[in-house]
Order: sequence, then C-alpha cells, then structure tokens
Amino acid sequence: MLFNELDLNQHLLHALKEAGYRKATPIQEDAIPHLMNNKDLLGCAQTGTGKTAAFALPILQNIMEERTVGKGAIKALILAPTRELAIQISESFQTYAKYLPLNIQVIFGGVSQNPQTAELKRGTDILVATPGRLLDLIRQGFVKLNQVDFFVLDEADMMLDMGMLRDVRHIIRELPKKRQSMFFSATMPNEIEKLAGTILSNPIKVVV
Ligand code: AMP
Repeated sequence: MLFNELDLNQHLLHALKEAGYRKATPIQEDAIPHLMNNKDLLGCAQTGTGKTAAFALPILQNIMEERTVGKGAIKALILAPTRELAIQISESFQTYAKYLPLNIQVIFGGVSQNPQTAELKRGTDILVATPGRLLDLIRQGFVKLNQVDFFVLDEADMMLDMGMLRDVRHIIRELPKKRQSMFFSATMPNEIEKLAGTILSNPIKVVV
C-alpha cells in the first residue's frame, strides 16, 4: 500500500516523500489505520520492520488534531531500553515531523542532566526516553506525565533482560488512565505478556 492511500495529513506525506518512503511496510499497513482510530496495539516485531514509523506516524497525525498541542505539556511518551534506540526513535520522529510545529526531545542516562532539564523547561511535545533517567527527572519534578495521551513501550523484552521493568512500572503509574498505548516486543515471555495486559486495553495484535 502506498503512503498516499493512508489518511495521513499533507505535512506528513511531504516529509515521507522527501525521506524516500513510498510504500508502507506490512506492519505499517496493518497498524497505522487502527492506531489512527486510537486503538491500543500489541506488536510482536523486530527492529528493521519499520515499526518506528508504524507508531510515530499515527501519533504525529493524532497529536496535530488535538487543540492542546504546543501548550508546553508532554503529549506523547516513548520508552526505549537504550540510548542508541532512543536517539534513533527521536531522529525518526524529527524526520517525519519536519513540517509540523512540534518539539521532540530525547533523554537518556550516562550524561549530564542539565541540558536535558533546560530543554524540558522550554516545552516538549514528544518525549523519547530511557526509563532510568526519566524516573530520576520525574522524581526531581522536571517531568510531568499527567497530560500524556500517547504512550509507546518499545523493545519490552530487552527492558526485561536489562532489569528495567521496575522503573517502567513506576513510570506507568504517572500516566493518565485514559490514553492510547502501544507495546512492542520481539518475543513474548510470560512476564512481558502480563505487563502488556496491565498497560493495554483491548489491543489489536500485529505480528511480523
Ligand atoms: P525500524 O524497524 O523502525 O527501525 O525501521 C527500519 C529502517 O527502515 C529505518 O531506517 C527506516 O527509516 C526505514 N523505513 C521504515 N519504513 C519505511 C518505508 N515504508 N519505506 C522506506 N524505508 C522505511
């Protein structure tokens, strides 16, 4: 399916065209229409399948339709297990959001938090973060998640292997109950399935 056939706004289609995207990958074709309708999603997908665009494009489309965007509150949160992944995801968002008036920020541990908190103070619409640093910043009062409408947990099984689920559970408690959630994992061990059950409500399932 061509991106033109998905009901995406002109600014997104323009950015996709410039990035050289023409056809949606299978996960994009399956997931994007449901996500644009605000359904929750459980995705069993590896990196390289195009899953980032599968969740980023509907988030960008839906966020632009909200009247509260640009008021300084974080509207979308994406959690990723590593700094490299978080950076990659934020770069993808930047590419797709090239013609949208949105601030996209990435935060991760192992570096000074001062530039990150300074950027947060200027106002962030979409935050991509690793769990440990995010929890630190929440506890210090630099991040409020009570306006988040879109939540993505990426590479959940890697978070389990890295011992991050405790932090993830704390972060999830900060989110509004009413939100759209997307959960991705390459494998679905028991503990991951249980976690997905607590985060998602009536999700559509996509396997690639
Ligand atoms: P991901 O699985 O999200 O890490 O994406 C893998 C790579 O494929 C990234 O470099 C994307 O920029 C690229 N990509 C994703 N979707 C498409 C598409 N529909 N057409 C061309 N490239 C794509």
